[in-house]
Amino acid sequence: MSEKDYDVIIVGGGPAGLFAGIVCARNNLQTLVLEKQIYPIDKACGEGIMPSGVVHLRELGVSPFIEKHPYHYFKGIRYISDKGRTAEANFSEGSGWGIQRIKLSSAMFEAACDQSNLEIQTGVSVTVSLDKNPEVRFDNKILQPKLLIGADGLHSRIRKIAKLEGNYPKLKRWGVRKHFRIEPWSVFVEIYWGCGLEAYVTPVSDSSVNVSLLWDAKRYKPKQSGEKLFDSLLCEFPDLYERLRSVEVLDDSRAAGPLYQKTRGIVAEKTLLIGDAAGFFDPITGEGISLAAKQALYLEKHVVPVLQKNPEKLGKSLTEYSIACRNIYRPYQLMTSLVLVLRLWPKLTDRVIQILHIFPALFQKLLSVNMR
Ligand SMILES: Cc1cc2nc3c(=O)[nH]c(=O)nc-3n(C[C@H](O)[C@H](O)[C@H](O)COP(=O)(O)OP(=O)(O)OC[C@H]3O[C@@H](n4cnc5c(N)ncnc54)[C@H](O)[C@@H]3O)c2cc1C
Repeated sequence: MSEKDYDVIIVGGGPAGLFAGIVCARNNLQTLVLEKQIYPIDKACGEGIMPSGVVHLRELGVSPFIEKHPYHYFKGIRYISDKGRTAEANFSEGSGWGIQRIKLSSAMFEAACDQSNLEIQTGVSVTVSLDKNPEVRFDNKILQPKLLIGADGLHSRIRKIAKLEGNYPKLKRWGVRKHFRIEPWSVFVEIYWGCGLEAYVTPVSDSSVNVSLLWDAKRYKPKQSGEKLFDSLLCEFPDLYERLRSVEVLDDSRAAGPLYQKTRGIVAEKTLLIGDAAGFFDPITGEGISLAAKQALYLEKHVVPVLQKNPEKLGKSLTEYSIACRNIYRPYQLMTSLVLVLRLWPKLTDRVIQILHIFPALFQKLLSVNMR
């Protein structure tokens, strides 16, 4: 049995879990993060942090740690249709950052270790029950925190145990990524639109790019699987394939999906969800990390003060957290839905890219709406 009482226990130490850990610990809450993997942790991701996310990372105090690692800025988004038409717009909010996931994980781990009230245990297998109070068991310890946070990603077990899972979505999109050693040829995140699939390229250092491929399982059947999957998808974008054909590949591909995960809610008694565990729609608009960072700031604003002074009033603060998160999720969901609907008609996509090419200010405005 452990002697130690934690105010907050967080299951999952990805970006969302560490953001949450940092905001709790910097407000003097005794916080424990339990992560099943060992740092640094890699994951399929497009690795672009939108300008709004960059601002949130500053507010969370993690930017100085990220800046010690290789990263690359990007100043906007460029769309490329299957007919080769392009449209691009700069962000009006500043630059985004591209950073390899494994580097982001190292940076976040360093930032978290800098917090004296934050403990991180890695390689752990936890059992959680939420009968009356949250109870967390691992390594012969039984802990009962004042608040349990589920930050265990897309296929969250905490979400399931808290009975917060939504109905099963019909949309089934998947993603896979690889890194290539090549000087970024663009200061934009480039999105190539194919038929039932997309490729996007993010500059992640002065000498490497991330290439992520997303596809809709209903509209596109990959011709290969396993290690051949990535190349078979990349072949669907002949210009991009040609550019990368003889370039050194830096790692094995990593895939994730199905990406759309619905929730009925993101809070239960003494429990809240954050990051992908709180529901995820689609990465096509590159918002996952920014949303998780903003949720952590809402956690700090609405829930942390109550935990410090008045834990018996936690219920109301959890509701406030939930409402605030819903309000930032909506514009992102709206814009992402628009983009995904557009994908159903490739000719229309081409036409829209043509219009955005003529009206870059409109494109810029749409990017801003997506970032709220
Ligand atoms: C193909 C793809 C491209 C993407 N592109 C972008 C992009 O360009 N920009 C962007 O902002 N977002 C992007 N995203 C989304 C982004 O990757 C996620 O939103 C982000 O990783 C969410 O962080 P998280 O901490 O919630 O989840 P995760 O990063 O998945 O972290 C969850 C952590 O919980 C741990 N865990 C799970 N179960 C347990 C358990 N039982 N016990 C202990 N630990 C556990 C896992 O090991 C993991 O470390 C993309 C996603 C995909 C799939």
